[in-house]
Amino acid sequence: MRRDKDSKAKADRHALLAAAALQDHLARRLRMPGGPAVQPSLEPGAPMTLAQHLNLIPRPPPLLSEDQWSEVHLRSRLRQDSANECVICKEEFQTGAQVLLSCSHTFHRHCLASFERYSRAKTCPLCRAAQYQKRPITDGQDLFRVKCATRIQAAWRGHAARRAYRELRRHNPPKDERLRKKWAAERLQEENDRLLSKMEDEVGDLDSLFAELDASVAKSREVCDAALRPLAARLQQGLLREAEAEAASGRAAGRLALVESDTVAPAVACSGQQHLALQLGRAGLGVSAGLGAVAGAGAAGAAGSGGGEGPAGRPASAAAVDWDAVVARARARGTQDCPICLGHISRRGNEGIAWLSCTHCFHIDCIMAFEAFELASGGTPCCPVCRSGYRRRCFT
Ligand SMILES: [Zn+2]
Ligand SMILES: [Zn+2]
Ligand SMILES: [Zn+2]
Ligand SMILES: [Zn+2]
Repeated sequence: MRRDKDSKAKADRHALLAAAALQDHLARRLRMPGGPAVQPSLEPGAPMTLAQHLNLIPRPPPLLSEDQWSEVHLRSRLRQDSANECVICKEEFQTGAQVLLSCSHTFHRHCLASFERYSRAKTCPLCRAAQYQKRPITDGQDLFRVKCATRIQAAWRGHAARRAYRELRRHNPPKDERLRKKWAAERLQEENDRLLSKMEDEVGDLDSLFAELDASVAKSREVCDAALRPLAARLQQGLLREAEAEAASGRAAGRLALVESDTVAPAVACSGQQHLALQLGRAGLGVSAGLGAVAGAGAAGAAGSGGGEGPAGRPASAAAVDWDAVVARARARGTQDCPICLGHISRRGNEGIAWLSCTHCFHIDCIMAFEAFELASGGTPCCPVCRSGYRRRCFT
């Protein structure tokens, strides 16, 4: 009787506990106002309610251990899931993020997330296993890397083999007569092309070199002209005054004997100072003509004041110069370039050339500029090549 009473009380207590546990579970599940805050969940490893502890409600599955995960991973590898495509998007895994489910199926991480959002349930898209666990893996990436490396190596090996074969063909003429002819023609064409391209390169270099030289000469000439112009003007004025004074004192008659008899162009020819003064006074020549006239006067003065045949071969007077002999000797020497500007001497036939009695010849403008410079710096003009005094004959 007493034992019955005990067992009845025990059953009542148990029923009471179960009722309280179920009430707590429902209160959590239905989020009753004023009820407990923590929600019951079937997520693997989630905290359990009292009802779940008492086995009144299904428990959430326990978290997989490392050994279990290794076993799941091995199953996926044996099926070679990562080498195939993701079953959701039907594309290869390549370098995309990849997840492995506890049911051993594998998908792109983004594809699975989209699927979960779309189906509003947590079931494997392949086997419908509910409440799966997932973890990231890199099997797809590793396989893709190996695949890419293999392709690159294969392409490189193919390229190297083709190159080696072409080299072999280049150096070993084929046996067949027709192919052999073709081979020889190709080699000849190759050499020809190489030679032509090399020649073109060199011609291009020469052209640029000449252009550079021309530019540099033009620049030097500009600088020289600018420096000489004021000097020449000053000199011209001084000589004009001197010549006028001489003309007035009547000493011009003696000088006139020195006038070059076979001068071709009076404007730039060697001449007496009176002749020059008259010309300049009448015509008012430009700077370049002035330069020529001044230089001519200087040269004439130097030659005139020399007096006697010196050791440097200075002629006694204008009449003593045999111009035919001078030209013949210069021709025999084969002079091609003006020693001052290094330009070709006969750029306009015989025009613009000044012959000196020392048998050296120059461009007229070159020797004029030289004489003007010598006079301006206080020296006596002498041949830039042989340093002897001279008479000058100009062709304009
Ligand atoms: Zn996918
Ligand atoms: Zn599955
Ligand atoms: Zn010159
Ligand atoms: Zn000379």
